[in-house]
Amino acid sequence: MTAYRLGLVGYALSHSLSPKIHTAALQSCGLRGDYSLFPIHPDNKEGLEELLAQVRSGEIHGLNVTIPHKQNVIPFLDELTPTAKSIGAVNTIYVRDNKLVGGNTDAPGFLVDLKKFLTTETHTCPGGKCQGRHGDAHALVLGAGGAARAIICDLLNNGWDVTIAARRLEQAQQLALSFPNYELLVTNFESLQADFRPVTFDLLVNTTPVGMTPNTGQSPWPENLPFPSHAVIYDLVYNPRETKLVKDACSQGLRATTGLGMLIEQAALAFEIWTGRNPPREKLWNAIDN
Ligand code: NAP
Repeated sequence: MTAYRLGLVGYALSHSLSPKIHTAALQSCGLRGDYSLFPIHPDNKEGLEELLAQVRSGEIHGLNVTIPHKQNVIPFLDELTPTAKSIGAVNTIYVRDNKLVGGNTDAPGFLVDLKKFLTTETHTCPGGKCQGRHGDAHALVLGAGGAARAIICDLLNNGWDVTIAARRLEQAQQLALSFPNYELLVTNFESLQADFRPVTFDLLVNTTPVGMTPNTGQSPWPENLPFPSHAVIYDLVYNPRETKLVKDACSQGLRATTGLGMLIEQAALAFEIWTGRNPPREKLWNAIDN
């Protein structure tokens, strides 16, 4: 039986949950193998190239990619999946037909988890806008970096209207321009209070790292601004397990979740690409709860 050699490249990686998730995936699917961390400094392009050569040669069967290398790996790959191409970032690398391929499971991972969250029994969404079809629903995305690009791509493809709010207006404008077939609204955090009526948003997604450990007392949502009155809140940050944004939203009676579900889903999708096996989600959740 193949012993799968899998891993994660990024910098810094010491707090990554991926080894626990993928080790549980291997065990629950009855597969042999291991999942290693490959910390490579942002400036070490040679180190990155050497690691990717190990995937090309079959020594490593699958590689996840995280900050700061999601774009850095692209020049070393033979092709990108359509999703990775449209997002411009890679989080999963593998060999197919002798080609070194870069894919992106962050976007589908988010979508799967968002849909689960929106359709759980306890969810009540005024007007039913958030359930099932999203034809006329409006999402506000905080942040305009790599994860925002993946999330916005997902949302637009699924019929959401999207507003991007970033601390640098030009970054939000730039990101909006990369979706030429859609009309996106852009703003910066300061103008959120003045220009926008937050009551109109159905979904608020935080894609900034604000609130992440060790800055757990911070929230990306402006302090004096009321939350959109019936929005569902999705915070991509998953460390801590309950962020200030999620706590504040819940305390005002809104439904809110962190990005742990997305982390699990993107990992499971990558694992399936590498091994052909679909790991049971419950086992993956158990692995990070221990
Ligand atoms: P990124 O490319 O660095 O983008 C971060 C964005 O947040 C940028 O627009 C950045 O603006 C903004 N930002 C940073 N600090 C800010 C602050 N103090 N106030 C306001 N805006 C701020 O990072 P990324 O790859 O998109 O990742 C963002 C977050 O998502 C990270 O916390 C990451 O862990 C999380 N994430 C979670 C998952 C999951 O599976 N749950 C997957 C991917 C990412 P500037 O350019 O001005 O700094």
